[in-house]
Amino acid sequence: MARRCGLSAPTVSKAVTSLIRSGLLEESGEVTEAFGRPGKLIRLSGRGANVIGVVVDATNGWIGQARLDGTQCGKASSTFAIPDDYESLLRILNSAIGEIANSTTDEGKPTIRGVGLSVPGLLEDLQGKTMMSPNLHVLDGHALASDLARRTGLTCVARQESHALCLGERMFGAARDLSDFAMLDVSTGLGLGIFSGGRLLTGSRGLAGELGHLTVDLDGLVCGCGNRGCLETVATDSAFLRGMACLLGKHCDMPQALDALRRGHPGGQVLLDRTLEYLAVGIAAVVNIFNPSTLFLHGELISASPAMLERAIEKARRRSLKPSFDACRILHSQGNKRLGAVAGIAQHLADEMAPDLPSLRSAEMPP
Ligand SMILES: [Zn+2]
Repeated sequence: MARRCGLSAPTVSKAVTSLIRSGLLEESGEVTEAFGRPGKLIRLSGRGANVIGVVVDATNGWIGQARLDGTQCGKASSTFAIPDDYESLLRILNSAIGEIANSTTDEGKPTIRGVGLSVPGLLEDLQGKTMMSPNLHVLDGHALASDLARRTGLTCVARQESHALCLGERMFGAARDLSDFAMLDVSTGLGLGIFSGGRLLTGSRGLAGELGHLTVDLDGLVCGCGNRGCLETVATDSAFLRGMACLLGKHCDMPQALDALRRGHPGGQVLLDRTLEYLAVGIAAVVNIFNPSTLFLHGELISASPAMLERAIEKARRRSLKPSFDACRILHSQGNKRLGAVAGIAQHLADEMAPDLPSLRSAEMPP
């Protein structure tokens, strides 16, 4: 750690001791097998420091409790339907958060350190306002994290859902050692998260990554954002399900749609091919523009079978620049929005508690 941070060993030791005392880190009990003096392995704390994760999605929400290392704990995880008005959403979340916080104590002391929220749409910054949420307009103009912080008295931070997925994959998933990767969420909407040079790209106001609202069909369907023919109206799980519902003449969920495909529904195969083709356009855009070493895909359709991913990759290969495509692995994401919500608050706590490296470095500089 000293080598990585460019600090002396005693300074690192002091910083780590203070993080252990604050309950954010703990000694794992394992010892490294390096030459010289064995080192103790340190990890994010699993005891005495819990957080609450909240996922707000287009139709359903989830709330649960987790340790700082991302493992879910406690009994009180639950899902709920997203109500039509903002006040009811606040009421539901406030009461669920209160219930978990009051039941989570260590020798009588509350141990919840904060609440992380994964929210869809254009979110201004950590505690900021949802400027517009094309698939969940009930959030428009509201600052959910700061409204909940006021009601619950807890630290609450919100992350745009694709950014949250990115953080979750980096902290707890398959992107742990990656500094340049992309996350394409193709579930309800189509969102993009980019880690470049070890940092999440957020743009000047946190609004970066809205690849889903790129026009790909000049005369296409009207999108939740008001534009016509956006990529997310043709390349996502919800686009595919909307098309299948038209073909089947009734509402269907993903298992039902996949079942119709398996039974050889002819229109369904055409629709699937078209959805994957548009997804390939999105993948090619990310590969060509950001040159990620790995691109993770998050969505129900793409995760349905290894063959589905293979088909999308083959289509993307034909639409991408060869050198950029050859440099990029395309994988299913391991994480989910629940882990993303937990990662958002864990990251925030770490940033808040972590010592300021530039000031430590300058304190070490010889006069
Ligand atoms: Zn749009």
